[in-house]
Amino acid sequence: MARHLITSAIPYINGIKHLGNLVGSQLPADLYARYQRARGHEVLFLCATDEHGTPAELAAAKAGKPVADYCAEMHDVQAKLAEGFRLSFDHFGRSSSPQNHRLTQAFAKALDEAGLIREVSETQMYSPEDGRFLPDRYIEGTCPNCGFESARGDQCDNCTKQLDPVDLIDPRSTISGATNLEMRETKHLFLRQSAMKDELEAWIDTKADWPVLTTSIAKKWLNDGDGLQDRGITRDLDWGVPVQRGDEPWPGMEGKVFYVWFDAPIEYIACAQEWEEAGKGSDWARWWRTDAGADDVRYTQFMGKDNVPFHTLSFPATILGSGEPWKLVDYIKSFNYLNYEGGQFSTSRGRGVFMDQALDILPSDYWRWWLLSHAPESNDAEFTWENFQSSVNKDLADVLGNFASRVTKFCRSKFGEDVPAGGTFGDRERQLVADLSTKIGEYEAHMEAIEVRKAAAALRAAWVLGNEYLQEAAPWSTFKEDPETAAMQIRLGLNLIRLYAVISSPFIPDASAQLLEAMKAGDANWPSELDADLQKLGAGHAFTVPDVTFRKIADAEREDWQARFAGTR
Ligand SMILES: [Zn+2]
Repeated sequence: MARHLITSAIPYINGIKHLGNLVGSQLPADLYARYQRARGHEVLFLCATDEHGTPAELAAAKAGKPVADYCAEMHDVQAKLAEGFRLSFDHFGRSSSPQNHRLTQAFAKALDEAGLIREVSETQMYSPEDGRFLPDRYIEGTCPNCGFESARGDQCDNCTKQLDPVDLIDPRSTISGATNLEMRETKHLFLRQSAMKDELEAWIDTKADWPVLTTSIAKKWLNDGDGLQDRGITRDLDWGVPVQRGDEPWPGMEGKVFYVWFDAPIEYIACAQEWEEAGKGSDWARWWRTDAGADDVRYTQFMGKDNVPFHTLSFPATILGSGEPWKLVDYIKSFNYLNYEGGQFSTSRGRGVFMDQALDILPSDYWRWWLLSHAPESNDAEFTWENFQSSVNKDLADVLGNFASRVTKFCRSKFGEDVPAGGTFGDRERQLVADLSTKIGEYEAHMEAIEVRKAAAALRAAWVLGNEYLQEAAPWSTFKEDPETAAMQIRLGLNLIRLYAVISSPFIPDASAQLLEAMKAGDANWPSELDADLQKLGAGHAFTVPDVTFRKIADAEREDWQARFAGTR
């Protein structure tokens, strides 16, 4: 039994995420966690909300609420949606937790003791009109790198370049719109990432198995232009982790907080502490400290491509720089973007489907299947309603759902709701077992490699094999001359339903549970000897005919949804 630590990039607290966000980290991470659990491995799957920084302050101000209240409410909203999509986190934490405050301050102390923090007196944008400094998203302007006109003070959304507010051309306050900004002196802490460039590069060079998307982004940040830059890790804000050296004050840094991108990844660790303190498990250090057993943990992170620099460079710089025995990531799975009907999802314009709306119109398995089987892995992918309708109707309703329905209904009408006795496997059945065995082997290999689309295709192919068998064997015809053989064919069909429920559970957990319950399957153990696994439901075993597993989407519904989500929210 292996031990898998799995984290999904933590979603920012403000607002409800769209389907593109979901498939970029949380959903594939859940797929992998469910798969590793189903294979009998020990899994700790963590996610949290990312709660600090200027966007939370701005959103809370807009909602007319104290920022702490706003974050607590939005955390609950996101937690409920995660449950709705069956995201099987062992804990869904909060980066504003006391655990993360303590750990972030402790990391800063360790980095300072290692000589990796420098204090910098610098001039920052100050808005006399707003009476405050304007860090990060409190300021917008034109990106000096790509010319995008709404680049934020900390990062350009268009070219993903990390920025400092002073870099912006034609800067303006996002609070008041003021452009009469002035430069004022303020003191900040910088993490000396440049001093760690060689160590980080050597570490990334050991990751020959990482996706090119991940390593190419990391290499770009390491080597482009002047190379890896030191990074300001503090801000003139109220909301965040107060700057302290461990539990001691940090002279000269009073009233400042750590930058959200410094404390957010540390929440991956703090989340395990929250998990333990919530009574959900024990010994968090066994997952995170290599001096406490984490050496044999395999740690996999999931994220969208815009988060790669922080996970390949900034967070490892924190971990390596601390000189303490923390677990480093073993594998980073990154994703491209999902587009929506020929454009982009847009939160501000309400374009595309958001997580709450998706669950209002269809159960989560429909979305899980489409999103995962079209995951933006090698390229950006596109959601279209035609494609969604076709994929649901063909893959889920016609192939899997129809198989379960035909087999159970035919059995009930001819043999009753018990697995029928009689007959033995012939050549056709032996061939099916061999073909399925090959296909499931491919499926497992793709899942191990986290090739999400290929895994979905192999799973679908395994469903198709059952349908083709049923079509050829035609027990409804066989029954007329040879009821014994028909009984064997149907017994195999019922066992196939059980098998499909087991192997499909990482993708479509609700349908899987429904089918296992209908088959009164007893166990949901992953198949090992397919011959024996396909005889687990023996003669006389009672089952029930399941309700419709997947319904079809009608053209009129599709057109209605197309119009509804075109951008009015
Ligand atoms: Zn840019």
